[in-house]
Amino acid sequence: MANIVAIVGRPNVGKSTLFNRLTESRKAIVDDFSGVTRDRHYEAAEWIGKKFTVIDTGGFVHGSDDVFEEAIRDQVHIAIEEASVILFMVDVTTGITDLDDEIADILRRSSKPVYVVANKVDHAKLHHDSAEFYAFGLGEVYNISSATGSGTGELLDAVVSHFPDQEEEEENTLPKITIVGRPNVGKSSLTNALLGINRNIVTDIAGTTRDSIRIHYNQFGYEFLLVDTAGLRRKSKVNEDIEFYSVMRTIKALEDSDVVVLMLDANDGIEAQDINIFHLAEKNKKGVVLVVNKWDTVEKDHKTAKEFETRIKEKIAPFTDVPIIFTSVTEKQRIFKVVETAMEVYQNKIKKVPTSKLNDVMLEIIENYPPPSTKGKYIKIKYATQLAGRSPMFAFFCNLPQYIKDPYKRFVENKLRENFDFKGVPIQIFFRQK
Ligand code: GDP
Ligand code: GDP
Repeated sequence: MANIVAIVGRPNVGKSTLFNRLTESRKAIVDDFSGVTRDRHYEAAEWIGKKFTVIDTGGFVHGSDDVFEEAIRDQVHIAIEEASVILFMVDVTTGITDLDDEIADILRRSSKPVYVVANKVDHAKLHHDSAEFYAFGLGEVYNISSATGSGTGELLDAVVSHFPDQEEEEENTLPKITIVGRPNVGKSSLTNALLGINRNIVTDIAGTTRDSIRIHYNQFGYEFLLVDTAGLRRKSKVNEDIEFYSVMRTIKALEDSDVVVLMLDANDGIEAQDINIFHLAEKNKKGVVLVVNKWDTVEKDHKTAKEFETRIKEKIAPFTDVPIIFTSVTEKQRIFKVVETAMEVYQNKIKKVPTSKLNDVMLEIIENYPPPSTKGKYIKIKYATQLAGRSPMFAFFCNLPQYIKDPYKRFVENKLRENFDFKGVPIQIFFRQK
């Protein structure tokens, strides 16, 4: 099950400020380079060891003032349907507005957990003022200041109480693969081509408790579960066109999968939204395969694919050890290559390197290129082991782990990738005291 926390509320109450605080992303840095951050309205977060995805619904409202309120109401309905927990944010400095009341009316009818969050309670004096929000009839009011962070810990304690301590173990151990991407890139076409049926798959209608639909694929020696996303549901009645909705579906499918096939349109290249999904997959430690579709429509020579690859890798750095496949679904070019590659990535994800082999290879490399000494102290790495987990994690035991800097970590990661093949898979490396 995906844990999704949606922040709803009218404009200017402080939704995006809270979002930034909860996700504490490397956002500022990313922003400077590519300007993609403005599009990043959903992001992985963690509190007392529980992982979840936060969505700032404000980021999905576009358009003129008269469509504004309508859009916000739509979002609240979608949040009720799709999110696990809803934070209804209001502003203590303005009190209750008509739109606040309307949103509260909708939320009162929902069975999902809703928390009233009174924001901008920057000092104790304002605590009393927030009492008026009890009038919503939505239970306890949480006073917070998104600007300073005060009160957010208590709120998060309450929020994560809805999430299980540990992912329930799946009985089914087949690889779970999902195809994601913006509208019209070719997701349904690929799915239909793989399943060999030339029609849209009928799926169940939104509102069921299941997070996503899984299609059992078992042909040509490949067996896996294809996890359904928004693209496959176009024929259902729900609001597929609403970007906010399709993002919710994508996040759920992604969290429910082992390998994410991120599909791009060769005519558009990789865009901010794609990069957001890529980073979400990376943060959630999912395997990734990039597919550049509609390759038939691109004028090309022998260098074109290489140039495409270089441009994509610049945008997704530093995690660039990712397979990129150029397909034409309509011409049936390389579509089985996608399946084959996704399965390879899955194998890489669950791979366990034997400790003796890991040490033979890595300790020799490290001996030849030891971490630079810091403050006159030499760092000695003595031993390495792969930790148990659902994606590759390695511990390197050494005398002074605090002196090992990011560049050396990256060096070690690159060597692991060169020697053991973790293509398409995020890996984590820890240096620990021995
Ligand atoms: P959104 O439209 O709901 O996403 O609101 P923003 O996060 O953009 O915030 C709107 C304005 O309120 C900005 O000027 C923020 O700096 C300000 N703001 C947000 N949180 C707080 C807070 O806790 N205290 C105060 N004083 N201002 C805040
Ligand atoms: P989705 O919204 O991502 O599921 O995209 P669809 O599968 O519905 O495809 C959108 C449109 O792109 C349809 O008209 C497809 O026929 C077309 N399309 C899909 N794949 C290709 C391809 O490889 N080449 C070309 N030229 N068109 C494609």
